[in-house]
Amino acid sequence: MPNTDQNEVLFERARAVIPGGVNSPVRAFRAVGGTPRFVKRAQGAYFWDATDKRYIDYIGSWGPMILGHGHPAVVEAVQRAVTEGFSFGAPTEREIELAEAILALVPSMEMVRLVSSGTEAAMSALRLARGATGRKYIIKFEGCYHGHADALLVKAGSGLATFGNPTSAGVPPEVVQHTLVLEYNNIAQLEETFALHGHEIACLVIEAIAGNMNFVRASAAFAKRCRELCTQNGALLVFDEVMTGFRVGARGAQGVLGITPDLTVLGKVIGGGMPLAAFGGPRAIMEHLAPLGPVYQAGTLSGNPVATACGLATLKEVAKPGFFEALSRKTRALVDGLEAAAKAAGVSFSVDSEGGMFGFFLLDALPQNYTAVMKSDGAKFNALFHGLLDRGVYIAPALYEAGFVSAAHSDDDIAATIEAARQIFATL
Ligand SMILES: *Cc1c(COP(=O)(O)O)cnc(C)c1O
Repeated sequence: MPNTDQNEVLFERARAVIPGGVNSPVRAFRAVGGTPRFVKRAQGAYFWDATDKRYIDYIGSWGPMILGHGHPAVVEAVQRAVTEGFSFGAPTEREIELAEAILALVPSMEMVRLVSSGTEAAMSALRLARGATGRKYIIKFEGCYHGHADALLVKAGSGLATFGNPTSAGVPPEVVQHTLVLEYNNIAQLEETFALHGHEIACLVIEAIAGNMNFVRASAAFAKRCRELCTQNGALLVFDEVMTGFRVGARGAQGVLGITPDLTVLGKVIGGGMPLAAFGGPRAIMEHLAPLGPVYQAGTLSGNPVATACGLATLKEVAKPGFFEALSRKTRALVDGLEAAAKAAGVSFSVDSEGGMFGFFLLDALPQNYTAVMKSDGAKFNALFHGLLDRGVYIAPALYEAGFVSAAHSDDDIAATIEAARQIFATL
């Protein structure tokens, strides 16, 4: 029988020329089964797949599309930029404007360097932390993702060992031997690790509201202890806000928690959907970077003129008064509605949200770390995912991913999503 679903036709073609048919693994439906939807176009809160089926989009390109797709002010800025040139390899005024806009929103940063991906930004921030402190150890937490640089593709060792094991082939154990992997929200383990290695730790890197193990907040006490122990031991506190920056609030997770990190890593929203990311902090640390200092970092397309135009136009909208209040209200309405529908059907369910980011778990209580997240019911999640997909609602195709609401989502979109979920909960 000839294949009539155009998504399947494209997936077959894609698999012949691209490993797994996708250019980033999470786009494949490996966790949930089925055929990935190939996107033809998007507008506002929706995208359409290869069969012209419409979906309400709750991934928003995994975070960047906070205004929804095709926001007129952003489209206009990008169109204007394109006519002026794609890339020069020489500085532009727009890079200064974007740097100034970022620094105005995030007071912990005095200087910022623009790069092209979150991976690059996190990797460079860690090199800078090591270069500025002259130390080699870094602390990361199980379940937090900081891009796919070698030293960060690491999971906790067995037992009590804090020295991690590589999570990817091609990463020799020697490359991760200076990465200490700890449990999120575990204050006692954090204190023990600093007691043992404090004078050798260059930095602690954390998603202070984690969005890569679904949605898990650092407790106020844990975040405060991270700050204190870094300060006492001369280590740098690095907030990876690639996901949370201009997403959970205008000042990111650091604004929500009231904690000032030493370095901040940004991405996703700051590019508005174009390849753009950044890292920054106090002048005294940032001046260790080349060409001023000995820490090398570079990029042919860094601060790209089209990407910076897109990011600037996006940040302008996000910085408008009331933007996050309205977005938070919308996201809250969604998660409250989902929770009520699940409870009515007797389905175990817990939810959390901040700004335009949310997470839900098929668990009675919100998990506090990666191990607890992974206890979520995979089979039920898959049923929910495919049920929503059939009904034109696209959530992340894995239970360990967060969800995203944009300014373009309407009350009707949210009501339709809750109604679709209600129908599926009744069958779980
Ligand atoms: C997405 C993400 C990254 C990696 O960004 P890329 O642009 O995909 O390289 C790093 N850290 C966090 C917290 C992220 O969510």
